[in-house]
Amino acid sequence: MTKTFDCPSCGAPLRPMGTPTQFCTYCESTIVVPTEQLPGRRVWPIRPAVNFPRIAVSPADIQQRNKRTTILICVFLLVVVIVMVTPFIFMILAAIIGALAGAN
Ligand SMILES: [Zn+2]
Repeated sequence: MTKTFDCPSCGAPLRPMGTPTQFCTYCESTIVVPTEQLPGRRVWPIRPAVNFPRIAVSPADIQQRNKRTTILICVFLLVVVIVMVTPFIFMILAAIIGALAGAN
């Protein structure tokens, strides 16, 4: 666990901090830690960059699709209501006109 590795620029023994790069206190330079010194999986610098956009984009897409579907359903219902209500309006108008004509 507490293995050391030699600094590539000055050769000083360094303890791996678990990061892909670290600072050498002896020669004051940022060095790349050898992959075998990294603990566990060495994929972690790549994984978040690949996964993050997929997570960030898809819910927004679904939301937009849901919004469009909701608007379509609302328009459809509105058309159905208009089609159903229009004959009643004509009937009421006809009744009013008939009543007015009868009164005269
Ligand atoms: Zn060094």
